Amino acid sequence: MNQLSDRINNMSTSATLAMAAKARELRAEGKDIIGLSLGEPDFNTPDFIKDAAIQAINDNYNSYSPVDGYVDLKEAVITKFKRDNNLTYTLPQIVVSTGAKQSLYNIAQVTINDGDEVILPCPYWVSYSDIVKVAGGVPVEVKTSIDTDFKMTASQLEAAITPKTKMLWFSSPCNPSGSLYSKEELESLAVVLKKHPNIYVVSDEIYEHINYTRKPHASMAGIDGMFNNTITVNGVSKAFAMTGWRVGFIGAPDWIARACNKMQGQVTSGTNCIAQRAVITALNAEPSVVKYMIDEFKTRRDMVLNLLADIEGFNTNTPEGAFYVFPNISYFFGKTLRGKTINNATDFSLYLLEEALVATVTGEAFGNPDCIRISYAASQEQIKEAIKRIKAALA
Ligand code: PMP
Ligand code: GLU
Repeated sequence: MNQLSDRINNMSTSATLAMAAKARELRAEGKDIIGLSLGEPDFNTPDFIKDAAIQAINDNYNSYSPVDGYVDLKEAVITKFKRDNNLTYTLPQIVVSTGAKQSLYNIAQVTINDGDEVILPCPYWVSYSDIVKVAGGVPVEVKTSIDTDFKMTASQLEAAITPKTKMLWFSSPCNPSGSLYSKEELESLAVVLKKHPNIYVVSDEIYEHINYTRKPHASMAGIDGMFNNTITVNGVSKAFAMTGWRVGFIGAPDWIARACNKMQGQVTSGTNCIAQRAVITALNAEPSVVKYMIDEFKTRRDMVLNLLADIEGFNTNTPEGAFYVFPNISYFFGKTLRGKTINNATDFSLYLLEEALVATVTGEAFGNPDCIRISYAASQEQIKEAIKRIKAALA
């Protein structure tokens, strides 16, 4: 008998992490799997950040930190928000957590009541839906398509709002589509939102620096009239290649930040003290220190787009940020390849794993069942080989 809680029984497993685990398992069996499933930079954390962590160990940072982070780390977060986003936060508005994932979880737990609706433009990052559901919220998916570069329009937002709407959650640059919302596009969403002052926005900006355009990053909290209704989520996993260090943070209205602090104090306490010390150094550096990574991601993005353009049945937008492409592969639905019938994106992603030995993630996990996500946070050689194999498996 399953004696687990309804809460966990109703939760889906993170599809990105599940695919990464499956790829690891197959590799352990001796299969030569190329992993294009996980959104994880393949660079090393820069040396100046590693040195700061080593220094922290030698300086005997070994005790519990304040729950919401060391004060000098929170000051570095404030400096970062001002320098990069022109947002003016104060100390009580900042909470540092164990990754942006925990920041998102905290926000959901402290703001959502049973039955509250949360608008999620699709495709959305894989964990949003379950984080909202476990807090008792109801995800309201707003479908977008490649024709609008996978972005939600103001009229779609307006149509999705009901008296139960509590929040809007979105990421820009977007995981998984790589789309960026411009300042003008955020302004047009804000026109709708300002008519509903009870709606709060979670603006997930974790890919902020991975932007291939000359357009400056636009933050929802910086749009006129939106600051007090926006929670800005960010972290160091992506920009500084620090996924395993587990540090994320928010800038939020202080009543929300206080509540996140309270929640975190009962659940995990302050995040790892060594990682926090290292992140002070990371955030106090100019973002240009990671430009070499962004340049390399851009080269890979162009390479992936060129290689995929050569395969019939892949319909792809031009991602302007993050490190994913999200091709529509519905062309293959109903087709039988090597005796296997492809009925949906999950079948397709599984087919690529089994027949091309390439791990991708089904779009179903992101609320778009016509697409798959390919991460190009892998070497150019791996990308070339992977797409060569995909092409051969689909021939
Ligand atoms: N938001 C988005 C859009 C992401 O892709 C990720 C992936 N890690 C996260 C949040 C969580 O990041 P972290 O590693 O800081 O928990
Ligand atoms: N955010 C990354 C991804 O989407 C890492 C995995 C995860 O945290 O789910 O692949």
